[in-house]
Amino acid sequence: MARYLANKNTKEIHDLNNEQENCQINEIKPEHRMPLDSLGEVIKYIRNYGYNGCIWCFPQYHTDLKRIYHH
Ligand SMILES: [Zn+2]
Repeated sequence: MARYLANKNTKEIHDLNNEQENCQINEIKPEHRMPLDSLGEVIKYIRNYGYNGCIWCFPQYHTDLKRIYHH
């Protein structure tokens, strides 16, 4: 199973190893679910496709792109 789950509707990416109640993973419709296997994939989607880390479970990748570029 993939560690990360992107919501194609909200363009948020969740870290399932750190899932929080607020993530409401169960509410994500099957057609909006996109599993991502690696952090490399996650960063690619954040950089190139306007995705964002979930503020609850993945705050280190939330909004602040500069932090990623300087990683
Ligand atoms: Zn989350």
